[in-house]
Amino acid sequence: MAKRLVIGNWKMNPETFEAAKAVARKTRAISAKLCNTDVVVCPPFPFIAACVSRSQPPAFHIGAQTVSLEEGGAHTGEVSAKTLQSLNVEFVIAGHSEARAAGDTDETVSRKIGRIVEAGMIAVVCVGEKTRDENGSHLDFLKKQIRKTFAGISPDKTKRVILAYEPIWAIGAKEAMAPEQVYEMSLFVKKVFADIFGHEAGHKVRVLYGGSVNFRNAGDIIKVGRVDGLLVGRESVNMPGFKELIRAVDAIG
Ligand code: PEP
Repeated sequence: MAKRLVIGNWKMNPETFEAAKAVARKTRAISAKLCNTDVVVCPPFPFIAACVSRSQPPAFHIGAQTVSLEEGGAHTGEVSAKTLQSLNVEFVIAGHSEARAAGDTDETVSRKIGRIVEAGMIAVVCVGEKTRDENGSHLDFLKKQIRKTFAGISPDKTKRVILAYEPIWAIGAKEAMAPEQVYEMSLFVKKVFADIFGHEAGHKVRVLYGGSVNFRNAGDIIKVGRVDGLLVGRESVNMPGFKELIRAVDAIG
């Protein structure tokens, strides 16, 4: 069975260089003991290089929280996919709801996926509805969002795509989505992906869940929700919570 994936999205945390190095060091130490799980940390850009170590365990990987949709050149404040790749970044988040709220559209997310994959990295593409209702309009929303986000992507690129289903109402919330619902929604997301790219791509694409995952609920979300991994915000910079979370996932076997 493929290893599970736990991705920590640090957002703007921690505030200082020293604290970031400490979180990376602790996460690396836990990763050295894992059998069934790969761990990715996505620090703020200025901390990325300091989180890479020469003696990195094979289960520890570096990610980034976003990337420029431009290939390079005169774009003040932007960071290109090639730059990230040169820093040993292997995974890049695209279309996080916070980035979408700040201006990313399905079209720009699609272009970012292209840049990430062309630079040889893996795109962790976030999708998710803002609200849910009895009529199932969130399913229509999600279907449209996935279709538009992948509109410009050729089928050969899907090998380097991971879907992160993150219902926006569950991000930064008190409670995660119920694991049974996670299972239903991950199947739905895979079905929509299969309708676009074919049965095999739909079968192979890894689906993560994100939204208020912590060390208490992580095991059930994986076991009952049957997702391939987790995208974790707050808990990823909270030690020892993240350590316990990773242990709980790895113990599932
Ligand atoms: C996120 O922002 O991707 C996220 C899942 O955050 P949290 O775990 O804090 O809800």
